Amino acid sequence: MYSHRDRGGGSSKSELVGGPFDRKRLNDVLDKHLEKSSPSTSRGFNRKDKERSSVPSTSTGKSQLDHRDSRSLLLMLSLIAEESETDSEESDVSGSDGDDTSWISWFCNLRGNELFCEVDDDYIQDDFNLCGLSSQVPYYDYALDLILDVESSHGDMFTEEQNELVESAAEMLYGLIHVRYILTSKGMSAMLEKYKNYDFGRCPRAFCCGQHCLPVGQSDIPRSSTVKVYCPKCEDIYYPRSKYQGNIDGAYFGTTFPHLFLMTYGHLMPQKPAQNYIPRVFGFKIHKP
Ligand SMILES: [Zn+2]
Repeated sequence: MYSHRDRGGGSSKSELVGGPFDRKRLNDVLDKHLEKSSPSTSRGFNRKDKERSSVPSTSTGKSQLDHRDSRSLLLMLSLIAEESETDSEESDVSGSDGDDTSWISWFCNLRGNELFCEVDDDYIQDDFNLCGLSSQVPYYDYALDLILDVESSHGDMFTEEQNELVESAAEMLYGLIHVRYILTSKGMSAMLEKYKNYDFGRCPRAFCCGQHCLPVGQSDIPRSSTVKVYCPKCEDIYYPRSKYQGNIDGAYFGTTFPHLFLMTYGHLMPQKPAQNYIPRVFGFKIHKP
């Protein structure tokens, strides 16, 4: 059920990127996830060999399409979306060379999850960083195993419903780890890359001239409010443009992040807007009593 990640193969992501969407890659991804979801004994070492030796044909994917799980479907959809949006070097969802996509990069590449950065495994594996979270997240141990792609012996015992609960617990746990991580120097530099890349969107206010925004929560308590984006120029917050992003819990980003970020990277702090909008009627300013 939960597949152990092949940790050796993350280095060659850039080799496969670029080029138009092709079916072979999609099938490869599907096949990988099918292997995850079927109780197969041939996981691990010989999977790579198997994939290398066999010539991938479209029929291998087709025959198994009915058995794909919802995660594969979601992944496929996000792949297609990503491919159609850009044919540049951004889609690293598919991994490469028989490399499994980790839960974390799968999660971060889902549509709507663009605001999340990928949290380092090392950070999650340090118990100190997770202090207090076990009491906040149901199915904590299973959720943690899922996030870290640790093969769980209990996975096969769960019903489908329980697996869904573990999945959503993993999302919550990841969010609560994420809000801590982005305040560390490593997390902040991961967010810096995303900021430069306009991953958090631009301020919709015309006089902010396309200022980059940063994600922010209105509360640090989970389930209080959804995530917003903060514009450092007009110092106001807005709903994210994507409706998919609009459902994400603001507590996964927290109230501190954008402000600590701008204190850390002071050179990114923009000038205050030079202009304010003035309402006019037939060219005349409106008199306010
Ligand atoms: Zn603004």
